Amino acid sequence: MSDKGLELLNKLFYSSGEGIMFFDKDGKIATVNPRAEQMFGYSEQELQGRPVEVLIPKPLRVNHIKSREGFVKNPHPRQMGAGRDLDGLRKNGSTFPLEISLSYIQHENETLIVAFITDITIRKENERRLEKQRIQLREYTEKLERKVKERTSELEHLNLGLQSQIQERKLAEIALKESVEDLKKAEEEILKTLNKERELGEMKSRFVSMASHEFRTPLTTILSSANLIARYKDDQAARERHVEKISSSVHNLTTILNGFLSLERLESGAQKVVHRAFDLSELIEEVREEVQGMMKQDQSISANGDALTMISDPHILKNILLNLVSNAIKYSPEGGVVELNTSNGVECKITIKDNGIGIPEKDQKRLFERFHRAENAANIQGTGLGLHIVKKYVELLNGTITFESEEEKGSTFNVILPKNN
Ligand code: ADP
Repeated sequence: MSDKGLELLNKLFYSSGEGIMFFDKDGKIATVNPRAEQMFGYSEQELQGRPVEVLIPKPLRVNHIKSREGFVKNPHPRQMGAGRDLDGLRKNGSTFPLEISLSYIQHENETLIVAFITDITIRKENERRLEKQRIQLREYTEKLERKVKERTSELEHLNLGLQSQIQERKLAEIALKESVEDLKKAEEEILKTLNKERELGEMKSRFVSMASHEFRTPLTTILSSANLIARYKDDQAARERHVEKISSSVHNLTTILNGFLSLERLESGAQKVVHRAFDLSELIEEVREEVQGMMKQDQSISANGDALTMISDPHILKNILLNLVSNAIKYSPEGGVVELNTSNGVECKITIKDNGIGIPEKDQKRLFERFHRAENAANIQGTGLGLHIVKKYVELLNGTITFESEEEKGSTFNVILPKNN
């Protein structure tokens, strides 16, 4: 080696940041560099000739001797205590962590072992700090995870609670809706009952006023005529007039009572319907004949229409037509014409038209109600039962009835019936 090389090696030995130590095969220290002196707190002189084990904590010395002897038998460069923590023992008794690389050299026929020693106190401290931080971090992470779990389960709990609350709310809403609906139904029922009761009340009072009028008039007539007959013993013509009045009043009473009977039959369901084939024009002719007696001065009935054999209940249909035609006669003036028309289409349509007093608009809605009489009919005899019965009869024959009317102009009633019932 050149002088320069030797000089550099020398400098390296003295200024090295690592401790360098030479010892012989028996472990006796030959020389140490200043860094090694500084690490262990001994001077080179104090160490020279002493066994390296003096720099090793007591419990480890026996093992060290064995491994040193093993190395001497088979010397090769290696890291000492690989995988284990090594400690150095200072002169003052304190220890410090270190790392050692071993090598050997031949010098003057002797094998010298070289140990390169690194004080790893700072690295170990850093490692310890790092480990501590790692442990703290792990603990912190675990704590966080625990918290997240807790919070999640709390949230799940909360969510469950919320959902069950929502469910309860929904159920409550449904129950509320049902109660409201029940209440509404109950209210409707009560209203219906009240309306029925009111209608019944109104009907009763209408019946009482009708009955008191309609019964009293003929009865009074009968009574006074009977009295007069007794008085007019010798006046046969006057007696006959009064007998006539009596029989007409009785006829009126019979008509009223027949009306009640028809209504009773209809409402109890006792009214029988017997369908058979019959000729409509013949039936109309019969009606015309039967109402002759009611006609006023110069009144006439004109009947027009298609010939038709229909299947229905002729008895009921005759009653319908008798009612409508007698109304047309009753509510139209002397000299008036009642038109009775039939048309034979898909269905059978019968119209009864008059040019009488007509029906005030405000009465039209309730015309088919029992005992309802229009305002302008007050002075004309009637019970308000006829149209109600007619409507029921028409329904029995699966038909419909409508009307158009204008006050003081006249009325037209339309009955539409199936041709083959
Ligand atoms: P009534 O003739 O015995 O009073 P109805 O039930 O037959 O009873 O008729 C009900 C009411 O309808 C009558 O009181 C009358 O006011 C009105 N009405 C019926 N037919 C006619 C008509 N052809 N012209 C005018 N008003 C009528």
